[in-house]
Amino acid sequence: MKAQQALYIDGVWRPAAGPDAIEVVNPADEQVIGRVPAGSAEDVDHAVRAARAALAAWSATPPAERAARLTALRDVLVARKEEIAQTITAELGAPPAFAQAVHVGAPIAVAGSYAELAAAFAFEEKVGNSVVHLEPIGVVGAITPWNYPLHQVVAKVAPALAAGCTVVLKPAEDTPLTAQAFAAAVHEAGFPAGVFNLVTGLGPVAGQALAEHPDVDLVSFTGSTAVGRRIGATAGAHVKKAALELGGKSANVILPSADLAKAVNVGVANVMSNSGQACNAWTRMLVHTSQYDRAVELAAAAAAKYGDRIGPLVNAAQRDRVRGYIAQGVAEGARLVAGGTDTPHERGHYVSPTVFADVTPTMTIAQEEIFGPVLSVLRYEDEDDALRIANGTVYGLAGAVWAGDESEAVAFARRMDAGQIDINGGRFNPLAPFGGYKQSGVGRELGVHGLTEYLQTKSLQF
Ligand code: NAD
Repeated sequence: MKAQQALYIDGVWRPAAGPDAIEVVNPADEQVIGRVPAGSAEDVDHAVRAARAALAAWSATPPAERAARLTALRDVLVARKEEIAQTITAELGAPPAFAQAVHVGAPIAVAGSYAELAAAFAFEEKVGNSVVHLEPIGVVGAITPWNYPLHQVVAKVAPALAAGCTVVLKPAEDTPLTAQAFAAAVHEAGFPAGVFNLVTGLGPVAGQALAEHPDVDLVSFTGSTAVGRRIGATAGAHVKKAALELGGKSANVILPSADLAKAVNVGVANVMSNSGQACNAWTRMLVHTSQYDRAVELAAAAAAKYGDRIGPLVNAAQRDRVRGYIAQGVAEGARLVAGGTDTPHERGHYVSPTVFADVTPTMTIAQEEIFGPVLSVLRYEDEDDALRIANGTVYGLAGAVWAGDESEAVAFARRMDAGQIDINGGRFNPLAPFGGYKQSGVGRELGVHGLTEYLQTKSLQF
């Protein structure tokens, strides 16, 4: 997709107020592939006013008609699957097959799920002598990260539009071309002007202006805990709602009765997926002390097999940050059994698939989110020890439990402080709520829970 030198506001592509631009770089070869506007506070204000103006008509549009537009959007995404996947490969570095199957496949499923939910959801319910109306919250400011550039956008925009809200999106600096492709799809799907608006730009400029805008009713943010904390504080000062999807340090707990080889192999694949740039990655593998050495051997062998098959990290800063964590792991006494800080390619922001053994729960690499292809293998003595380690970080986004018997895994999962846990491998479900316990966030995305984030109740008493 060719970069648009414009913002999508009120149904048309129009130039930004100022001359500032963002260069988009392909992380695999470090070539500049396009330039997009770096929107200003003035552009954000313009977009918010368009969203406000479109709100009354869109919120009054029958849910069946909103559902029809979402179905059309899903169909456009299907028709443009290859083109969007190529854009994601170009600006994020995702391998082509993965870009199509996961980066575009998952958002197609999510858009489809909200087309169905919008049609089926009861926006009105009777409770005793009251009728409760579920009404759209209003104008939504959506701020998204680069790691799943289409999915993160669709996971906010689809439920917001299904609910009858209007949206201004500020996507990540590194992946604005995917956001532009999404805006083009929204346009083609026939949504009314102003219902969806796109302002590309820098976080501290356009993002902050959107979060602080007095006419935005809800800020939905996905990204780092540091920025999420600021956005939550800003929203609190204005008494507006903030939904925050933040970082994670998820535990993959392998109980002694599990199929060890399968659990380790799937666990390594999970961490290396998207080059480790996933907030819900199972970055800490917890193994019983009696199986520990065997698990480390299997994990090292599995990681070595990934070799060239994973893409680069999104930019040089992320690569350097991840390599910094690897160096810190070594300095704190963890044992490197695969990968390391070497440069696997001459060009591009690559990091080798890396596995650390002899990681203890208090080490930096066992506590902080690395956001790269780095797995820490920790040992536990018994189930209580495993639970203490699993729950022993500030995060609580996701996790996994493996056991010979599903009910044994479920019993353990119920004691974990995390919002989404895969049992014996799990499988993506676009209807299951996703979001964090503790400092991993506030609020949920996907399914009915994701829809109700964008609704507020009005009770009429009779
Ligand atoms: P980031 O917080 O730097 O940026 C996220 C978005 O916020 C970007 O669009 C950015 O431009 C914007 N932003 C930055 N500063 C801002 C400010 N002051 N005001 C308003 N907006 C601002 O995060 P990132 O580097 O893009 O993404 C990586 C992080 O995101 C990781 O920590 C990861 O765990 C987290 N993440 C969480 C989830 C989840 O669902 N929980 C999903 C993906 C990524």
